[in-house]
Amino acid sequence: MSRLKEISDWWKPDVITPEKVKKFINMYPVFKNDVDCPAFKSQKEILEIQNKNLRNQLELCDKYSPYYSNLFKEQKIDVSKIKTVDDLEKLPLTTKMDYMKGSDSFKLKLAGVAGRQLFELVDWNVTMTTGTTYGFPTVFWNTTHDEYSLLQFLIRSSKISWGSPDDRIFNCFPFGPVPHIGYLRAITAPLAIGASVSAGHTGMAYPEFPVLRRMDEAISIAENHNSTIIMGIASYIRRMIMRAEELEVDFSNLRAIHALGEPCPKGMRADMRRRVESLGAEDVFIHNGWGFTECQGSLSECTELGGNHNPDPGLYFLEIVDPETGERKADGEEGVAAITHLNRRGTVLLRYVLGDIVRMTHESCPYCGRNTERIMPVSGSVYATRTKELVKFKGTLINPGLLKDTIENVGGIAEYQIVFAKTDPKDPYSMDQLVLKVAPVAGVNRKDLEKKLGNAVMKAAEMSAKIEWVEKPSDIYDPMVSLKATRVLDARPPLE
Ligand SMILES: [Zn+2]
Repeated sequence: MSRLKEISDWWKPDVITPEKVKKFINMYPVFKNDVDCPAFKSQKEILEIQNKNLRNQLELCDKYSPYYSNLFKEQKIDVSKIKTVDDLEKLPLTTKMDYMKGSDSFKLKLAGVAGRQLFELVDWNVTMTTGTTYGFPTVFWNTTHDEYSLLQFLIRSSKISWGSPDDRIFNCFPFGPVPHIGYLRAITAPLAIGASVSAGHTGMAYPEFPVLRRMDEAISIAENHNSTIIMGIASYIRRMIMRAEELEVDFSNLRAIHALGEPCPKGMRADMRRRVESLGAEDVFIHNGWGFTECQGSLSECTELGGNHNPDPGLYFLEIVDPETGERKADGEEGVAAITHLNRRGTVLLRYVLGDIVRMTHESCPYCGRNTERIMPVSGSVYATRTKELVKFKGTLINPGLLKDTIENVGGIAEYQIVFAKTDPKDPYSMDQLVLKVAPVAGVNRKDLEKKLGNAVMKAAEMSAKIEWVEKPSDIYDPMVSLKATRVLDARPPLE
């Protein structure tokens, strides 16, 4: 029996055990030889590693980070008094706005400093933050030192999510005008563990160099390489699979989908699994990692919805905070996530507030036995809701994350979009109206679906929705035009 066949269902919540995880690790030298991996060390030992790295990082920031050395001076912060990660609460939070105002000032200035190694001085690459939260992307520098640390991070995250050197990984992230971690790390991760990788190279066309491919070509590449893992943005992969069904391709080797970049709730996972099973796949692990530029990869699930593990707590300290006061929240409480870099030389951020509302646990994982912290689902089966997505609607705050989760669990939907609209689009003061645009799956009884959706929306948001049928899924989300599906659209004119 091949190794991939042997481990095919080990990810399942009712099959996974710490013993199976250890057996998997021992199958492959790249994982077995990683003896310093803190995942199974005690929490006390993990904290010791974090505290040691933090002190070194703070010293570097104090001397060589223009932003932090200035901040420490201005606020009279004596960093030598910050000895443990618990002391971090004495530091103010760093916001996206601070970072965006001058990303260069967060890069350590080590050039010309005696005793530094070449690895710490060379800029290996840059990536940029996704989305246009503030209108344009922000640069994140990686030195060679950082790139080596990323290889370690990616080996450790692959180890959690059952990626192996035997895999043939298909990088489904689109190519585009901005270097995002998705496309880049879906190359680095397979290479780091010794797997093979191919890519679709779809994406945003640049007419002067017409080098990108159409989705159908990408699908045939994934098929020809007998791909075992597909990595990409959740809604984009799903769209690719829907097209693959029309083309009746053979995906019988597929064993995992790394649905990244956005939430992939339970209903969406079930939908994707059903579709790839119709193309010959079995026991497919649909892995919804929680990734962001500032960790240059993603936290990883060992089993579906078991929580997203921090693969490398020696590199990153995560905490859940109150964004107003900077106070740390206890395990289980919701708040915004903040990251502190513990061993970087390029861009370094301390208590940097990510835009997501999440919750965390430090309990040992009952599935894999790891002792690293995990991000747990906040609403339904969704790990993170964006703070900007909390919407004031009909006078109450509603959580679109929960709404999306509920809608996706209904089934029978090819694409959908939640629109916060006005009953009279010309009258900004008319009543709010929740519109649900739905492109149904062919053959679905629309009357039944309408009833089910009505009930689901009522349950999640305590209000009714007007259903608008859309004939073509691409009228809601066209993967040739944008990277991600816009699931929530606030179409109400701003009130002045
Ligand atoms: Zn686990």
